[in-house]
Amino acid sequence: MVTMDTLVSLCKRRGFVFQSSEIYGGTGSCWDYGPLGVELKNKIKRAWWRDFVQRRPDMVGLDASILMHSMVWKASGHVDHFADPMVDCRECRHRFRADQLAETPWVHYCPATKGNKFTIPPGEACTHCGASRTLCPDCGKGELTPPRQFNLMFKTFMGPVEEDASVTYLRPETAQGIFVNFDNVLQSMRRKLPFGIGQIGKAFRNEITPGNFIFRTREFEQMEIEYFVNPHETVEGRPADEYWHDRWIEDSLAWFRRYGIQPDNLRLHEHDRDELAHYAKRTADVQYRFPIGWSELMGIANRTDFDLKQHAKFSGKALTYFDEERKEHVVPYVIEPSAGVDRALLAFLADAYREEEVRGEKRVVLRFHPELAPLSVAVLPLLKKRDDIVRTAHAIRDDLARHLTAVYDDTAAIGRLYRRQDEVGTPYCVTVDVQTVGDTDKGEAADGKVTIRDRDSMEQIRVEGSRLGQVIGDLLGGASWAEVTAAVGRS
Ligand SMILES: [Zn+2]
Ligand SMILES: [Zn+2]
Repeated sequence: MVTMDTLVSLCKRRGFVFQSSEIYGGTGSCWDYGPLGVELKNKIKRAWWRDFVQRRPDMVGLDASILMHSMVWKASGHVDHFADPMVDCRECRHRFRADQLAETPWVHYCPATKGNKFTIPPGEACTHCGASRTLCPDCGKGELTPPRQFNLMFKTFMGPVEEDASVTYLRPETAQGIFVNFDNVLQSMRRKLPFGIGQIGKAFRNEITPGNFIFRTREFEQMEIEYFVNPHETVEGRPADEYWHDRWIEDSLAWFRRYGIQPDNLRLHEHDRDELAHYAKRTADVQYRFPIGWSELMGIANRTDFDLKQHAKFSGKALTYFDEERKEHVVPYVIEPSAGVDRALLAFLADAYREEEVRGEKRVVLRFHPELAPLSVAVLPLLKKRDDIVRTAHAIRDDLARHLTAVYDDTAAIGRLYRRQDEVGTPYCVTVDVQTVGDTDKGEAADGKVTIRDRDSMEQIRVEGSRLGQVIGDLLGGASWAEVTAAVGRS
């Protein structure tokens, strides 16, 4: 398994992810997606949107605003309950989550060894004097304050006056934008239960201890679905909400596998009663084996009718569905598959990373699924001194770039150019050589063919330039290298 340090360094070196405001020393837990990172992120979001919103007849999309009426957060419970217990050091002023102190290594000045300084592993006692941690784990000297609740929402003011009446929050989740639009979507789109609303967007949480690169950040992006079902219906002999919960768990796992995540690196974690949010009937997390260990990649919760009922209560508007068959108004139950874009990106990146040995040399390769790779194709001239080769390569790139992410590169010898593309996961390279354009001095005619090189097998085939777009399209559309090679050989 690749380490986080290796990924962070690759991401910076090759333009995937940079630390935010780096020239000013960086900010805590904010990251910027560079030229390749933004392509990867967009492709992940596009695949998710296409598979879960566009392709499904029971789904529609939404893009709600980040700033909402402050009552939304009162109704959702975030104003009163979205908090972590926090303690402060009275000496060094460092802040900790009270529930994470036992997982933090602590500094200790040991009285049994004339006050020597030790750093003791999380939860362990000093082997010299037997003391366990009571003071600040960072400075080892300060007393800690009693825990108090720290709300994780970013507070701000709407309009020019900073007064209590204008207080609002940056949304801590995209879900509430869907709940408050439930009736708008129901009426305007004439939906019948079950149906879902999908949304991709930014959310913000003022985490006390963010960290682990893009795993936990204060600003992040979510891909969320609220799937509304009739709790009075049964499907295959089971309550509809339980049936659809299982279906969404299966579909979510299948989606990550479809885009190349190795099945062994995925597992399901069922929340037990202590972990379960107060409104949830059942929650299952899809966990991924990140470089930091098994951690949540996405959650799939049965939120029951909690949110719609809360918003109905606080807004005074009925948020119900009329069941024609039973002639009754029902408040739908909600199944919520909620994934983090940044975590998904980290999982795809970690899963794709390989170090291989090729002819005695190390090759770093990102084996991205072809649909997710930031660059689909790199067009490389074999000789950059030949104008006709360079011109042809540019023309091929321009043509491919109408539909794909395609780059031209001539800044090194061909072997090095291939390695660079391997390292950013480009599935196919196209090279233009002397045979492609011919050599009039030597009386050699142009054959008009170009070479396609496969990232994973490093095999190469020559195809007619006129067929290149089609062949690349087939490969990116799911045809295997073997199938395409066989088809090119036959023609
Ligand atoms: Zn301290
Ligand atoms: Zn000690």
